[in-house]
Amino acid sequence: MIVNIRSFRQKVKRNKRSFKSFLTRLEKKAPKGLHAMLVEVDKQVWAETDCLTCGNCCKKMTPTFTPADLKRIAAHFNLSVPAFKEKWLTYDKKAGDWQNKKQPCQFLNKSDNKCSIYAIRPSDCAGFPHLTKKKPLDYLHVHRQNIEYCPATYKMVEKMKVLMDKQLKVDGCL
Ligand code: SF4
Ligand code: SF4
Repeated sequence: MIVNIRSFRQKVKRNKRSFKSFLTRLEKKAPKGLHAMLVEVDKQVWAETDCLTCGNCCKKMTPTFTPADLKRIAAHFNLSVPAFKEKWLTYDKKAGDWQNKKQPCQFLNKSDNKCSIYAIRPSDCAGFPHLTKKKPLDYLHVHRQNIEYCPATYKMVEKMKVLMDKQLKVDGCL
């Protein structure tokens, strides 16, 4: 399904506070089987989301580059790791990560939102938006940030919220 970024931004504006506090509540009191629920919701999210019509993560965010990413991608461009860093990256002292100097990402094809180094992209990009991680509680703070940028993450939280509200009703808590 096509991603409409304008309507996504409007929805974020309307709902980000309630979505963020939902994630905080989930962090404090996670239901049993949270990972299995996320796996199910993840399938629905991707059936409704076409990343190639979006590309917002590559346009508005930066991946982090691990030492292995740096080695692999620098070699692809016949560059040494220091030369690769010098050309495209900056070091975020607070996070302790190598990140892109600029957005959109230099490897994004603007004409079709495809990644020009897809096969060797950073592991952070390959795993993004980390919706079905085995330890979901470790990623709720990540989703809290990403709902403002990633329509798939937003959709996951929206669906989880509906599911959890249904569950609370069944349990007589709503
Ligand atoms: S490396 Fe590729 S997938 Fe990662 S941010 Fe850049 S364009 Fe996007
Ligand atoms: S992962 Fe999220 S932000 Fe990135 S292209 Fe897909 S829907 Fe858009």
